Amino acid sequence: MNPKHELDNILKASRRPFSTEERRFIEEAFTFAVQAHEGQERKSGEPYVTHSIAVAKILADMGMDKETLAAGLLHDVPEDTEHTLEEVSKRFGTEVASLVDGITKLGKIKLRGSHEEYFLENLRKMFLAMASDIRVVIIKLADRLHNMRTLDALPPEKRQRIARETMEIFAQIANRLGISEIKGELEDLSFRYLDPEHYEEMRKVEETYIREGKSYLERVMQQLRKELEGDGIKIIAIDGRTKHLYRLFRKLEKHDMEVSRVYDLIAVRIIVPEIVDCYETLGAVHKRYRPLVGRIKDYISLPKPNGYQSLHTTVFGPEGRIFELQIRTQKMHDEAEYGIAAHWIYTEKERGGWRQFVFGRKAATTGKPKEVAWVAQLREWQKEVGRDDEEFLRGLKIEFFKNHIFAFTPKGDIIELPEEATPVDFAYAIHTEVGEHAVGAKIDGKMAPLDSVIKNGQVVEILVAKDRKKPNADWLRFVKTSSAKAKIRRAQREEDAERESGKK
Ligand code: MN
Repeated sequence: MNPKHELDNILKASRRPFSTEERRFIEEAFTFAVQAHEGQERKSGEPYVTHSIAVAKILADMGMDKETLAAGLLHDVPEDTEHTLEEVSKRFGTEVASLVDGITKLGKIKLRGSHEEYFLENLRKMFLAMASDIRVVIIKLADRLHNMRTLDALPPEKRQRIARETMEIFAQIANRLGISEIKGELEDLSFRYLDPEHYEEMRKVEETYIREGKSYLERVMQQLRKELEGDGIKIIAIDGRTKHLYRLFRKLEKHDMEVSRVYDLIAVRIIVPEIVDCYETLGAVHKRYRPLVGRIKDYISLPKPNGYQSLHTTVFGPEGRIFELQIRTQKMHDEAEYGIAAHWIYTEKERGGWRQFVFGRKAATTGKPKEVAWVAQLREWQKEVGRDDEEFLRGLKIEFFKNHIFAFTPKGDIIELPEEATPVDFAYAIHTEVGEHAVGAKIDGKMAPLDSVIKNGQVVEILVAKDRKKPNADWLRFVKTSSAKAKIRRAQREEDAERESGKK
């Protein structure tokens, strides 16, 4: 291992142009990590610090800041070396120390107990870490990604357990954070250990498809570029993407393993400057290539719950072959690949200069930086209920991993809810007051009971009565969101307390 070379690699991987001062800071963390792990080896026989370096490289590639990179380099120092957290704090400041501490705490997970207990314990720690500093979880994902890439060095029984945990917890969290690149790789790496037969099968499908489809894709992209530019559309980039193996498998399962029925095996991605260009491009494409009915999706007007935005369409392309097109802006693209990391970067205000460099154009900086809605929600929930409330955690688990829907207020505001949510959940999501005074609901203009199930895209109007004072305890039987549940309970407790004091 050549230290100078490795440090350069980290800095080169960064999507962020670091100042001389920042580079020096990272270099110091690097040198300290190398020295602290001196003489330690990984199971593979490599120097231990190669792991810390790999983690920092993944973080650099995501465009994370100098503190996160330093914490990535130092994340195993207090746990595995004689150097303490205090020492890290003295040398690199409290911000880095608190990130390292967060990761160390995440790492200390009890291994006894049932799978369910273990699962919940893991989740609880991840949620707590997320609510305090989302960067802790991002470092943890990078750590897990490198451990998965080198899983072969561990004995087979351990591989299984770690792969399962990665699939069930870490990939899900990456997904919810919108970091699709890491999610895809974590899933594929786990898939390989959990279901080696199907993994092999998918690799063969991919091989056949790539050999056979690559030249077609090249031709299509060339032709499309010419046609679109002929229409006066400015294209920033056009490229092809292949599906991750695990996603391919899940999709094929849904279609009786018939490859010919999966239309997004090949996808062409077009990146254009502005939102209006996205729609213009879609029109220009449809003018030439007939779209498949029911496969035009506007995730720009109606983003996916993890924030994903793009226009999707599937067309009969040149030579009559079917393929998918994804059209988006550069910002949407960065957010699709790097999710909350990009989001966090875009909303970071202090270092104005680099943003332009990284993303090619300046992001809008009007208004208060908007946090991904559920992170803010998470914080609010934690204030509302005790941190160790097991039931709350179970509820959160369902909410976190369940598919989400969007419903609209009559004014057109979007409310995000878990699947099967009811008008009461909707009412509480608008405001506690609305929830407490709800007496009825209209869904798409028709009266509907408060326990009806809201479907994606429906318009919900909540009817309120001012004289209604307390929520109905019966609602607890059907509400789906932890937030509504907690608020109904709290109102009940207050009522009980009033009754108690009234007796005296
Ligand atoms: Mn580690």
